[in-house]
Amino acid sequence: MGAPTTPAETGTRPRPNPGVPAADRALTRPRRRLVAAAAALVALTALGAGSLLDLRTPAPRPTDAPADAFSADRAYEDVQVIAARTHVAGSPANEQVRAHLEQQLRGLGLETEVQDTVAPEAGQLSGAAGGATVARVRNVVARLPGTDSTGRVFLVSHYDSVQTGPGGNDDAAGTSAILEVARALTTGPRPRNDIVFVLTDAEEACLCGAAAFAASHPLAADGGVVLNLEARGSTGPVIMFETSRNNAKLVDIFGRAAPHPVGTSFAVEIYRALPNDTDFTAFLDEKFVGLNSAYIDGGAIYHTPLDTPAALDRGSLQQHGDNALGLAREFGGTDLTDLRSGHDATYFPVPGGLVRYPGTLTLPLALLAVAAVAALAWLTRRSGRASTGRLVAGFALALVPIIAAPVAAQLLWLAITTIRPGYAELLDPYRPIWYRLAVVALAAAILFAWYALTRRRIGPAALAVGGLAWLAVLGVLLAVAVPGGAYLTTLPALAGAVGGLVALRTRQTGPWPVVAVTAAAAVGVVILLPTVVLLFPALGMAMGGVAALVAVLLGLVALPVIDLLHPQAGGQRGMLALRARRLAVLPAGAAAVATVVLAGVGLAVDRFDAAHPVPTHLMYAMDAGTGQARWLSHESDPQPWTDGYVDGVTDIGDDFPGLGDAELRAGPAQPANLPAPKLELVLTDAAVGSDRTLRLRLTPQRVARIATLHVDTSTATVLRAEVAGRSVPVEPRDGKWGFGLVFHAPPAEGIEVTLAVRPLAGQVALRAMDASDGLDALPGFRPRPPAVGVVGSHSSEMLAVARTYQF
Ligand SMILES: [Zn+2]
Repeated sequence: MGAPTTPAETGTRPRPNPGVPAADRALTRPRRRLVAAAAALVALTALGAGSLLDLRTPAPRPTDAPADAFSADRAYEDVQVIAARTHVAGSPANEQVRAHLEQQLRGLGLETEVQDTVAPEAGQLSGAAGGATVARVRNVVARLPGTDSTGRVFLVSHYDSVQTGPGGNDDAAGTSAILEVARALTTGPRPRNDIVFVLTDAEEACLCGAAAFAASHPLAADGGVVLNLEARGSTGPVIMFETSRNNAKLVDIFGRAAPHPVGTSFAVEIYRALPNDTDFTAFLDEKFVGLNSAYIDGGAIYHTPLDTPAALDRGSLQQHGDNALGLAREFGGTDLTDLRSGHDATYFPVPGGLVRYPGTLTLPLALLAVAAVAALAWLTRRSGRASTGRLVAGFALALVPIIAAPVAAQLLWLAITTIRPGYAELLDPYRPIWYRLAVVALAAAILFAWYALTRRRIGPAALAVGGLAWLAVLGVLLAVAVPGGAYLTTLPALAGAVGGLVALRTRQTGPWPVVAVTAAAAVGVVILLPTVVLLFPALGMAMGGVAALVAVLLGLVALPVIDLLHPQAGGQRGMLALRARRLAVLPAGAAAVATVVLAGVGLAVDRFDAAHPVPTHLMYAMDAGTGQARWLSHESDPQPWTDGYVDGVTDIGDDFPGLGDAELRAGPAQPANLPAPKLELVLTDAAVGSDRTLRLRLTPQRVARIATLHVDTSTATVLRAEVAGRSVPVEPRDGKWGFGLVFHAPPAEGIEVTLAVRPLAGQVALRAMDASDGLDALPGFRPRPPAVGVVGSHSSEMLAVARTYQF
């Protein structure tokens, strides 16, 4: 490169080598500099490794563990019974699971009952496009009475599975953990507070079991503390990812009483942005406070036939149980009358525990970090290490890797999914580690390349200050928008600024400048490295850019330490400087090569095969009126197997409003011998004016998982609706069928629906649909070959039959 030598390198300024950072001003002799760099990097690497090792799950305890302890191996025996096969709400298999749960809880001497009711969904579900949603649910509820109860502690998990898999992790893990916790609690002295074990039904369908318990069970009437146990994968640390509002006291107890407390206030913010829901949603009202925990790595098998007991990581189960038991004991003995505090806490895991501080400090700390970085910039300029112009340039240029790394990570994933389109339907690849490492290497390549290109012109001091300035600014933005995440950038920026100030103010010939910048970078490592690692499974590779962003922020925080290794850091001149300049591009080149190699290894290792099948989505829908049948798939870029069934995109909203209003790919199918659900008019009440009240009975003529009823709102306006004696909200839907009801787990004897309508012209048109599962017996269905699997969804393998009725 022929760029002119800068003043920083010719030493024409009053101070020698002003471009050299404080940390190594005295270390211009290469050997001393390299020793210092090596020591700093070893210290940071050891700290980083320690932070990651701290996230490991505990060893599962064997079946002969002490009676008052949680044993994953004991709990696993229940996992095998519960997840022996698919047991969707309303199915005979789920009835057997329920019988097992009742038997286990009664066997412990607990007051056990089944809450059998019809309940609406909790919260607003993203998948409930069909209309107002209701289910018949049967929750298993058991109580361990307290000696002097101040309130109730509820241990909650759902025992139903999705229709596409046995739910070995989701949520046989949580359910079995609660059985084992119940067993452990009944062996010791009775707790002060009531402990209630709530094993809910129909979570997968609509969270209806939890909603029914929270809204109408007598034990829930006075509220209490809810601990919900979930799994959205098969392995990894159990993360406490959601809390009720004003959580400071709860988080404090979590940090104290959970033996392996992994949780961050940032997770709460991420979770709100994701389209997931759990039973915990049903408890998010004034009566209840609580914590929601799940393990989430190994997401490839989520909701698929591969979510079997064998897929479960017993270390994750042990952590789930250890935490649940520790928290149950603590909340079981605490005065529960005042668990709400006036504020949310900021919290995050560090080796050996959980750091927590009041959320009220978030904005003051963010502003303090900005002030500290400003002071560092001022002192950097005053000490002659960077001019105002360079500081401004450093700030502007530091934005480049912050933007480029996430964009590049997204492009990398786009390239990988172009090569392997099956990834589009997976939450995460089966073996994601190679791709995760590729994203980290890519972030490093971008940071190193940026540094090699800018360092000589701008100087390391201005770039380091510029990087910290962006972290501080992001801290303020986060403090305003997503306060739970502000610590991620505020604390490393504050530490970096303080470290820089100390480095500038201490004697430049001693070790203290290096110690100061290394200690500052250590704060960044402890906070940001586990975040990178936890973000990958939380968001999946499709949002790997977020992890790349955090990785680059970590790199910016560590810049002064990275700079110690920089070949130009000694301020060499002449030929040495030229050689150093050439050496400076090496790290970027090495990281870029690593990115390509790691992505290539990922593609080579993570191939689809019988044990790791490519996910496919297929369902069947038949109009019993016309006899027309169709194959349907929501795959946007269908796999070859699916391609044999579907071609063009169709809007099925007019024919199958119960399937939501999604655009699906469709192809012709042979009609099957399947009866439509029967819709009978039980009674028409005397008309009031022109309004009519229709009392209807909707009866599936086969074993159905869902029954739906829709009204053509061009024939009548729906004024009120009741299902099984409960009123449901009348919310308009888009399209021809402007009112709809979705009923999960319909009883064989049918569902009574009462509609108050205002007819618009003649008869009222209604569309009845029901849906079962399993495509095997359908004419024209060819079973999947071994390397083709079923996507984790609520609609694959569904078999729907619909018919229009007029009254
Ligand atoms: Zn689930």
